[in-house]
Amino acid sequence: MSAQIIDGKKIAAKIRQDLTLKIKQLQKDHNLTPGLAVVIIGEDPASQVYVRNKRNACEETGIKSVGYDLPESTSQKDLLELINKLNEDDDIDGILVQFPVPDHIDTETVIEAIRPDKDVDGFHPYNIGRLAVRMPALRSCTPYGVMKLLESTGETFHGKEALIVGASNHVGRPMALELLLAGCTVSISHRFTRDLEAWVRRSEIIVVAAGKPGLVKGEWIRPGATVIDIGINRTDKGKLVGDVDFESARQNAAWITPVPGGVGPMTVATLMLNTIEAATSRRNIKP
Ligand code: ADP
Repeated sequence: MSAQIIDGKKIAAKIRQDLTLKIKQLQKDHNLTPGLAVVIIGEDPASQVYVRNKRNACEETGIKSVGYDLPESTSQKDLLELINKLNEDDDIDGILVQFPVPDHIDTETVIEAIRPDKDVDGFHPYNIGRLAVRMPALRSCTPYGVMKLLESTGETFHGKEALIVGASNHVGRPMALELLLAGCTVSISHRFTRDLEAWVRRSEIIVVAAGKPGLVKGEWIRPGATVIDIGINRTDKGKLVGDVDFESARQNAAWITPVPGGVGPMTVATLMLNTIEAATSRRNIKP
């Protein structure tokens, strides 16, 4: 069997297209153009690419993006002052701080400084907590994008055994909460997990976010499983690969995401979705 490919690029483009129409409608009916502040500190090349993609997607959909490109030397105090200013700015609906931030800035302090109703990355403990108690507000972009990819397969989730490989705050943990909300029986593996192979072998949905190329072997994949690869790793030769051995995994899986062109574009599309959601719910506009 050869798996069907879940085309994240195509699904993300459709979401952006729908959002473009929605923004036109918001402008017409409510004179509202959602605004996203995009803050980047320092010159990390990968972060620069991600930020450029996010700004381009804003331009395409009609969201007004306001860029803050801050030097590496920016102090935590100055960054928090900027966040405070953006928290109070009525034209700003979403605040995105591109991570990682330099070592002298504490990630969690920055996340907690952002108003939860402008936290379009969905990283604030309030938003993660809402997801945990089945009352999602702004949902973490990458797991939210993965749910849209899973939905696109038309498969049902209820009662399915799902495994998440990787337990990070930004991806693995909210991913587990999303799948739990969708009715899966969820397991989370991480660097201390003893027999990763056995966990993978029994799982019907496998979502991998460990940042380790080749971590999940294709022959471990249960026949008919759905495989979502969130990893993005660059090989010595400059090629982008995920955490799953794609060519061997697709022999067993029913559905699989490619890298690139799987989860990556979805994360940007759900950021746009969250920005519109933040703009409308803050103003009590019904979707
Ligand atoms: P990201 O934010 O992209 O998910 P992190 O580096 O924050 O990346 O997290 C990597 C995650 O992958 C951690 O939760 C870690 O425990 C997990 N991980 C690392 N190695 C393994 C492994 N061999 N098996 C399972 N999980 C692993």
